[in-house]
Amino acid sequence: MSMLKIKGLQKSFGGLRAVDGLDFEVSRGEVVGLLGPNGSGKTTAMNLISGALRPNAGEIIFDSHRIDCLPPHRIARLGVARTFQLVKVLGSMSCSENVQAGMAFRPQHAFGAAAREEALMLLERVGLRHRAHVAASDLTYIDQKRLELARALALRPQLLLLDEWLAGLNPSELREGIALILDLRAQGLTVVLVEHVMDAVRALCDRCIVMSAGIKLAEGKTNAVLAREDVITAYLGV
Ligand code: ADP
Repeated sequence: MSMLKIKGLQKSFGGLRAVDGLDFEVSRGEVVGLLGPNGSGKTTAMNLISGALRPNAGEIIFDSHRIDCLPPHRIARLGVARTFQLVKVLGSMSCSENVQAGMAFRPQHAFGAAAREEALMLLERVGLRHRAHVAASDLTYIDQKRLELARALALRPQLLLLDEWLAGLNPSELREGIALILDLRAQGLTVVLVEHVMDAVRALCDRCIVMSAGIKLAEGKTNAVLAREDVITAYLGV
């Protein structure tokens, strides 16, 4: 059974149909890439799934719950976590405090020593344990991305939405970032990721959905989809 089911999803901004009748499903344990040129509706789709935006039409079903009418915190409590295109960390708080803040959205909140211990474990998982007491604003860009991931994981998500989490990394950071997501995949986490770095898409995604002007242009196994002429044309804009 699908963990995430999207049917006829539509979102307009004024006269512009940013997402125009999108259908797709994601099974438990899959890593699915949501691809497409700039302005094709990917971030809008992520915002609809996480509840930051309400659709004009269509349904989003997560784990047999209809979530398209729920506010973001309720969707988070059901087990959907996300990272943002522009990293959002709480700059004046330490890494440990940032991760503990992420626990507040889940049904079983951890407190005190248990929360601090769990935060350390999550920071370890993303390679940031040694920075636990450093203010988030003092981290490098990649470390802020790691922290954002740890905070998302603090929700103990079933589904993780990554919006260009690998953007802006240098080649060695990119390798580390890919390894980190592969590790999450190996642990069975279901991931939907918006990504422009094609090496990362090939390394990470079982399947891809390609959007163009709000509609689904292609869907299927990653290599097959990326080899399609209409997909290449959509990307090159010719
Ligand atoms: P992508 O993530 O694929 O680059 P977006 O989902 O960000 O695409 O945007 C899809 C279209 O919707 C674009 O034309 C964009 O300008 C428009 N759009 C996105 N968000 C808004 C908004 N809040 N208000 C108005 N237009 C928006």
